Amino acid sequence: MFPLPLATGAARGPDILVFSMTRKLNPEDLNRYRSLLRHVRRELFSDIGELEDDAFPRDGGVRATGDDAADLGSDSYSKEFSLDLLARDKATLGEVDEALGRLQSGSFGCCEGCQARIPKVRLNALPHARKCIGCQREAEGI
Ligand SMILES: [Zn+2]
Repeated sequence: MFPLPLATGAARGPDILVFSMTRKLNPEDLNRYRSLLRHVRRELFSDIGELEDDAFPRDGGVRATGDDAADLGSDSYSKEFSLDLLARDKATLGEVDEALGRLQSGSFGCCEGCQARIPKVRLNALPHARKCIGCQREAEGI
């Protein structure tokens, strides 16, 4: 099929070395990503709290009494929607926690697929990214 990105990279070894050295994350970068991740984590926590209130009302569904069928229908739709978002937020929270763990262990910013440095532009957009774009696409079969 297609040549592996790793193979083409190996042929241009010295280039890649210079590339990864100039893009190396310094302690300042790492601190920035740490506070970014903590910020995202706080946001997720508050989102998850709100979504849980929506999906599992504390009033035990008293709100639904006296509502007509249409209201009940949209209630269950919005509940499903909340559960969907809740699952996604919880998954992201797990990713963020793991990224904070990688910051601790020193492997943050390394692609889990090819071990290359994940470009800053990607980490800025997605600080909990585990893989470079190439490996991510490969994993998703794009
Ligand atoms: Zn990779």
